[in-house]
This record gives sequence, C-alpha cells and structure tokens, in this order.
Amino acid sequence: MEITAAPGELESFNPATGERLGSVPLTSPDQVQAVVDEVAEVQPFWAQLPLADRAAYMRRAAQAIIDDLEGLATLLTREQGKPIDESYVMELVPTIDALHWIADNGPAILADERVPMRQPYLLQKRAWIRWEPLGVVAVIAPWNYPWSIPLGEVAIALMCGNGVVLKPAPLTPLIGQRIQAVLERAGVPEGLVRCIHGGGDVGQALVESSVAKVFFTGSVAVGRRVAAACAERLKGSVLELGGKDAQIVLADVDIENAVSGCAWGGFANAGQTCSGIERVYVMREVADRFLDGLVARAKALRVGDPLRPDVEIGPMASERQFELVRELVDDAVSSGAKRLCGGPVDVPGMSGRFFAPTVLTDVTHDMRIMREEVFGPVVPVMPVDSEEEAIALANDSRFGLGASVWTLDRGKGERIAARLEAGMVWINDHMFSHGAVQTSWGGVKESGLGRAHGKLGFRECVSPKQMTWDPSRTRNFWWHPYDDSLRRALRESATLLYGRDTQKLGALRRGAGPLARLAARTLRRPRP
Ligand code: NAD
Repeated sequence: MEITAAPGELESFNPATGERLGSVPLTSPDQVQAVVDEVAEVQPFWAQLPLADRAAYMRRAAQAIIDDLEGLATLLTREQGKPIDESYVMELVPTIDALHWIADNGPAILADERVPMRQPYLLQKRAWIRWEPLGVVAVIAPWNYPWSIPLGEVAIALMCGNGVVLKPAPLTPLIGQRIQAVLERAGVPEGLVRCIHGGGDVGQALVESSVAKVFFTGSVAVGRRVAAACAERLKGSVLELGGKDAQIVLADVDIENAVSGCAWGGFANAGQTCSGIERVYVMREVADRFLDGLVARAKALRVGDPLRPDVEIGPMASERQFELVRELVDDAVSSGAKRLCGGPVDVPGMSGRFFAPTVLTDVTHDMRIMREEVFGPVVPVMPVDSEEEAIALANDSRFGLGASVWTLDRGKGERIAARLEAGMVWINDHMFSHGAVQTSWGGVKESGLGRAHGKLGFRECVSPKQMTWDPSRTRNFWWHPYDDSLRRALRESATLLYGRDTQKLGALRRGAGPLARLAARTLRRPRP
C-alpha cells in the first residue's frame, strides 16, 4: 500500500492511532541504479576484509541494537502495530542472537571447503571450493516483520562479503531505515548498506538493476514477477512467500500445549505472520477439548494499544489488511462456517482497525478461508477421523511453508512430518525457528524458493568458485599425444577400477603393458 504525501516523501503512520510518525525521502525508480553503483564502489573493500573482522562488525551491530533496544522496540510497535512484547520476542532479541551466531559461525561456514580427490589418477591434485561474495545484493522486505526478516538477510549477506541495497515495505520505512543506522553505528563502511524507499515501482527498479541477486520476502504474486525478472537477467532470487500453515493435532497430544501453541501460532502479530497457523486438523476424539480450550484462550487475549505491556493483540497493520481478513471470515460464515468467537472490534480511544482472535468450525476445503492466505488472527478448525485424512488435507494446498504435528510419540511425529509438503515441520511447536538463525527458513510449492538463515542461507549469498592445484611433477595421461595404448589402458583400467571382481585379473593381464606405457608417459616431464 502506498502512503505517499508530499512529492519526494514517504510518510509513516501508527496503525493503532493514525498518528503521523515521520517520513523518509522517497527514492524514484530512476535513482535506483545509481545507488546500486555507489554500493558497488564500497563493496570490494569490504570483501577483502578478513572474516574475523567482518564478524567483529556483526558483534558491534548486536551491541548497537542493545544500546537502543527500548527505542527500537517502541518504534517497531508504533509503526507496525505488534504488541511491545512481540517487538522484543519476535523481532529484536532474535536478531541480537542472530548477529552473534553469524559472527561465531560465519568464518567456519565461509572457510574454503576441501573436495577430496581419491581417484588414483587424480591423487596428486588438490581441490577446494572458495565461497566468493556475489557483489551487491537486493533485500526487499515486507511490513509484517519489518526488522527481523530484512536484518537477518542483510547480516548474512554482509558476513559473506556483499554490499546490500535494502528496500523496506512502504508501510514500515522508519524501522527499515534504522537497520542501516544500526549497521552504520556498528562502523560498517559508509555506503555499504543503503536503504531506498518506495513501493512496487522502486522494488521493480531494484530487481531490474545490476544487483547480483534478489532476496525477496512478500506475496506470491509479486514474488513470481520478481523471479521472472531475475530469470530474464540470469540472476538468482530467493523467494520467501506466503503460507497456509497447518497444525495437525493427534489424539495422544498434550492438549494444553497444543492449545497454547495454536493460540500463539495463530494470533501472534495479529495473525500477520507468513508461517502463522491458518488451519487446524484435530483428531475427533480430542476435538471438543481442543476447541473449548482454544476458544477460552482466544477470548482471554487482550486486544488494544500495542504499547501497553498487557496487550496481546494490536491493530491490523493496515485498513487493507483488516478488510481482507473480514472478507474471508464473512465468506466462510456465509458458506456455512460457525464463528465461535472473535471478529472486528473497536478499541476505545484508538482509531485503528482491530480484529479480535477468531475461531471457526464447520469449515470445508471449498471455502476461501481454507485455501487463501488469511494473514489475520483467524484459526479455522476441522476435526478429522484419521491421521491419513489430516495429512491429505494439510497437503491439499498450493502453499508449503511450514506445518506442525502435535503428538507425544516422536517417531510418529517424524513419520507424519516426512509426508508433509512443507519447507519446515515443527513437532510440538510452530514457527519459532525463525528466531533461531542457525535453522534454515523457507518453503516449497508456492511458498517460495531457496532458503534464508543457517548454513543454507549463507550458501545463497555466495558464488562457489571451484579451485584445484596440481604440483606439476607429473603430466596428465589424457593430454596429447593420443595413441592405441591410451585407448587400451583406459578400457582395461575402467574394469580394474569399477568392474566386477571376477573381471579384474583378466583386465590387469591385458592392461599391464598399456598401463605401464601410460605411467611412463605420465612421469615424463612435458616437452617444452
Ligand atoms: P508484497 O508482495 O506486497 O510486498 C513485499 C515487498 O515487495 C514490499 O517491499 C513491496 O514494496 C515490494 N514490491 C511490490 N511490488 C514489487 C515489484 N513489482 N517488484 C519488486 N518489489 C515489489 O507483500 P507484503 O504485503 O508486504 O507482505 C505480506 C506477504 O509476505 C504475505 O503473503 C506473507 O505471507 C509474505 N511473507 C512471507 C514470509 C516468508 O518468510 N515466507 C515472511 C513474511 C511475509
């Protein structure tokens, strides 16, 4: 959603109160390439720093966040609307931890990786992969986790030696700008990380610029366009897109845990989480207890001013988001779903749009609420008669971001997890691992391509260069001149190396002469 006011300025508003929070300079699409070029001038210097030095900047960035924790948490909550506790739990503290993990583990992940050469004819050679930076990369961010999502990607890209152009979502430019500020306070070279601001046109200009790769988090529709534009330019993209995560609750579950996990997984950040719980399949024998518990929990959650420490549900981040959620809930109810609690509510003294945690039953897979991303505090619950039915329904989706299985039987949980079409499966938890940066994050099907975080996230930010060394004491047998003994030696050595045991003696007898001639040729110094 665009919220431009004066030309050249992007304003930001508090979704709870409508208060204007400030503004940032708007970037015009035709300025984007120049910003990329400027970052490209700084990046080679950064790429030459030893890994330990880059790691030191990551630790300093963590300290810069700690030094301004209260201010950042307040800005996050005021600009995005999540409860202040969630600004700490789901955004800021995980990134402090992430920066330390990146600093501690980055050097080992980025160290040259030896590739063993065990074939007898390659024994004299050495091989290794060097992980080189890509250059300048783009990070295009969404508004729902405007701090932790881009910061994690920016930090790993930097650790890998890249420069970054970051485009925050137009709803959350101020907190996005603070990512650049925190890194500057940490002392990273000026101009290595640059924020540009605007909507889709600016994002598109960034994708079409000379950036080496695009790290995009957002909707499926835009992600598809980003991927196509990158493919056209033969560059890569990592796409973290929408989700429709299922929670499968088995009969042998700790019901209290499953209910609490569902309330958090479904309602945290007012449900505006890509891997929030958006569907529940619960075994019929525990369905009533589960539903009663979930409804009681949903009704107990306090909706209101997200700056108040006892509030659990803040405003929807935008009017548009509120209307989308209302539309999908209304569509479900008019198609026969039963709303057990929740819906739009007014909060005295606040002009924002609030949606109380909503639990639905009597839903079917024909309803939009079970097929489209809701992105609101709405949990539809379907009782099922078997685990097979739960798996089939969970997989009946074009999305495949996360899923969870709730059971006290770990083996069964793992067997079900193996059959779920998702990039991440949590057993007895949901979505928490975005806050543990050593784990990988990403989806299958329309939920995206590639991975953020963890070792796999590092691999997305580098170009592997295969390198080899030969000490030049021998010459390769496959070099010229060609003759009959080469052909015969190769024919027999294929059998000697890889053939059946019963064939090997014959091959040795036939190949001894040609192989000896080949060996002599290999040891002879090359003629000048
Ligand atoms: P969005 O796709 O509308 O926008 C995402 C970003 O892309 C914004 O910065 C936007 O300005 C920019 N953009 C828009 N058009 C563009 C274009 N043509 N080229 C390049 N950039 C463009 O998404 P949103 O509404 O900000 O975010 C919500 C969506 O993000 C949801 O679908 C949610 O599931 C998804 N999401 C996914 C993850 C994940 O990890 N998989 C995490 C958070 C959000």
